[in-house]
Amino acid sequence: MPHFDASTEIKYLKGVGPRRAQLLQSELGIRTYGELVQHFPSSYLDRTSFRTIDSFVGDDMPSVQVRGRFLSFVVQGEGAKTRLVGLFSDGRATMEVIWFRSIKQIKAAYLTNTEYVLFGKPSLFKMTGRWSMVHPEVDLPGAAATAGGGLRGVYPLTERLRNSGISSRNIFTWVQAVLPVILPGMPETLPPDIVAKYRLMSVRDAMIAVHNPHSEADLERARYRLKFEELYYLQLNIQLYGRRRKASAGGYRFPRIGQFFNRFYSEMLPFPLTGAQKRVIREIHADTVTGRQMNRLVQGDVGSGKTLVALFAMLIAIDNGKQACLMAPTEILASQHFDTLSALASPLGINIKLLTGSTRKKERDTIAAQLLDGSLHILIGTHALIEEGVKFRELGLAVIDEQHRFGVAQRARLWKKNVIAPHVLVMTATPIPRTLAMTVYGDLDVSVIDELPPGRKPVTTLLRYEERRMDVYRSIGAQLREGRQVYIVYPAIKENDNNELHSVEEGYEEIREIFRDYKVAMVHGSLKPAEKDYQMSLFASGKAHILVATTVIEVGVNVPNATVMVIENAERFGLSQLHQLRGRVGRGAAKSYCVLMTKYKISAETRKRLEVMTSTTDGFVVAEADLKMRGPGDLEGTAQSGLPIELKMASLSRDGDIVATARSAASDTLDADPDVSSPLLRAEMSRRFDRAFDWGRIS
Ligand code: ADP
Ligand code: MG
Repeated sequence: MPHFDASTEIKYLKGVGPRRAQLLQSELGIRTYGELVQHFPSSYLDRTSFRTIDSFVGDDMPSVQVRGRFLSFVVQGEGAKTRLVGLFSDGRATMEVIWFRSIKQIKAAYLTNTEYVLFGKPSLFKMTGRWSMVHPEVDLPGAAATAGGGLRGVYPLTERLRNSGISSRNIFTWVQAVLPVILPGMPETLPPDIVAKYRLMSVRDAMIAVHNPHSEADLERARYRLKFEELYYLQLNIQLYGRRRKASAGGYRFPRIGQFFNRFYSEMLPFPLTGAQKRVIREIHADTVTGRQMNRLVQGDVGSGKTLVALFAMLIAIDNGKQACLMAPTEILASQHFDTLSALASPLGINIKLLTGSTRKKERDTIAAQLLDGSLHILIGTHALIEEGVKFRELGLAVIDEQHRFGVAQRARLWKKNVIAPHVLVMTATPIPRTLAMTVYGDLDVSVIDELPPGRKPVTTLLRYEERRMDVYRSIGAQLREGRQVYIVYPAIKENDNNELHSVEEGYEEIREIFRDYKVAMVHGSLKPAEKDYQMSLFASGKAHILVATTVIEVGVNVPNATVMVIENAERFGLSQLHQLRGRVGRGAAKSYCVLMTKYKISAETRKRLEVMTSTTDGFVVAEADLKMRGPGDLEGTAQSGLPIELKMASLSRDGDIVATARSAASDTLDADPDVSSPLLRAEMSRRFDRAFDWGRIS
């Protein structure tokens, strides 16, 4: 008799076969029995509750159960469009049930005037106002009731799987067949002391309960256990690397606060620092006297004054005889930083230069020579900084602005520029919610500038429908007459299919036509860098009054006289992007506005998202809301966060408490077993993290 266990391939399972096995692997990454039972239900259906057809509402109904009878079956259409349409009545109303495949078998199998239980997702056919269900699961009432206890798992599927006739019911059946085969041999995956201390369900009980819960409470305990396990190993991995990094990476000592820092602070500071800026500067300085490499993330909302903090950090490096660099994601930003910083630092006798892709050969040579002899103190630039030829005499500090634009590998190249790794300061305006920061940045040090410079008035944010476009233009006109400047951001560059999106090129023509007395500049991604810089400088210098642009202006651009930010097709942008764009205004003393333009017909969900923007200007609140609104199974969050694994069950936003508990459990484990020598932990870590992921280098 063949032996079946967790490593058996699912193609050998009854009802699966090679073709479906192939699909399950390519769509869901399920190849073996063991992987199949790790595919958890995304929701549960109460098999005891039924909906009536006349109670269906909304654009996006969940899957529901309906009880009733087929009144008739008709085959419609021909060729590839052939379909079987059953008219189904629950005694109060009717709906159409539609099949595109297996028409013959289905027609033969289902009878009229027999009671069935249907499970499927209703959709409303707008033309006729009729509800329908495509390929529902069909059961006799008795069969439906006996499948599992009261709750039955609904398994997530992809469109392709559904189209090839694989249903949640199929997965359920296969999981039920596999569980008794593999559970007896399934080893506990968490250390026994952890299971005991946190009173967790055993892995076997959790597996049974998550696929076949006999009550809500049973399900809750199972889910807790499985989430805990995921987060525990994630934390173990993060903390292990964090501890190793701290133990190994030696760094420069900057004990001195010298003449550059002191002169700048006492004689040249353009305004008093905020309390938060002072605190973060102290935190940075404290890091640089330990003899270990600093790896600090500075989070500060747009306009919180991160540039000045970076300058102080660089002054500390220079006071201690080292060089510093600042890397920005775009040429516009790099040259803007250069202008700001050289205006502040040059009067101190600091030599500061700019290196980008468009720097001339002669200037490049000068920079190369001065970097090597040490006479160049600060180098500002783009990716050009990490090219092979760029060699510092002694790089003491690397500042990276807007971290999310740079890949991990690129950032790591900065390390290779020295024998001793330079201190690294990463500045980001993307506020990262606490639970996410705790996970993603693990043992990295995080500073938060949680205070805006005084006198900032919060930006008033308005949601405006297309119908009120002329009102919006009138308000823009009023601001222009007061000498203010205006941004208008578009989601597309060119005119596009069926005019779904407003484009910057069309907008440019329209805006020039409407605001004839004003100069309009235009910036978008397909302009040559030199042209982009020119257009941008027109706006920055005040020569242009209106800037029409795509999101290339999203990060960092600073024009304090601009008081209006109009975002076209705001429904197309994510919350964090909208927040970044809004951050371009409200930087001066005058009252500022952000106008979110959208067509009238948007989904309830989109409206809710946009209303977050109109209700708060706090970046952390926006970020929390953003994370919460992403539904389960939407992995964008994890992909963006840079996590090396995909969380199957836990959610960093919703499961903050479990994150915290798992974090401290992992920390206890490492205190007792710093090298993770336990065979169980080793095996689990290598199973979960198939590529070595060095968290210390994440920023
Ligand atoms: P961000 O954190 O978005 O990079 P910036 O460093 O560009 O912000 O600063 C935004 C604006 O605030 C700049 O015009 C800067 O000169 C000003 N600023 C920075 N710190 C202070 C302060 N302590 N008081 C007043 N204005 C400040
Ligand atoms: Mg900035």
